Amino acid sequence: MHDPNCIFCKIIAGTIPSNTLYEDDGVVAFHDINPAAPVHFLLVPKRHIATLAAVEPGDQALLGKMLALVPRLAEQLGCGDGFKTVINTGPNGGQEVYHLHLHVLGGPRPWKRATI
Ligand code: AMP
Ligand code: ZN
Repeated sequence: MHDPNCIFCKIIAGTIPSNTLYEDDGVVAFHDINPAAPVHFLLVPKRHIATLAAVEPGDQALLGKMLALVPRLAEQLGCGDGFKTVINTGPNGGQEVYHLHLHVLGGPRPWKRATI
């Protein structure tokens, strides 16, 4: 369930701090520490799933719940004019933290970085 070496598992466990904006029994959302846009938060499952490539058929409800949460949270953060949703997967996908996470970016353009 938890990987003791995983930075997002540590955030979920509360052993390292984060700027949390949403939590329920299955997922946590917190602001990205190095935001690429005026609004940049991450939505992660509480259970350690390393990448999108590691999801199993039993994760369908969890993934659907995460995606359905995105517009609600984005709206709460003032992203009424739109937002970008990104999941980096594996080395060629540019993934740096190996705990599945969904990036949500928004706010007025131009943004700090074009890609994440
Ligand atoms: P990725 O390249 O998709 O794996 O993205 C990892 C993201 O995690 C980057 O945008 C980092 O800025 C972000 N990140 C890394 N450590 C932390 C942390 N302690 N709190 C919040 N965000 C973090
Ligand atoms: Zn983890």
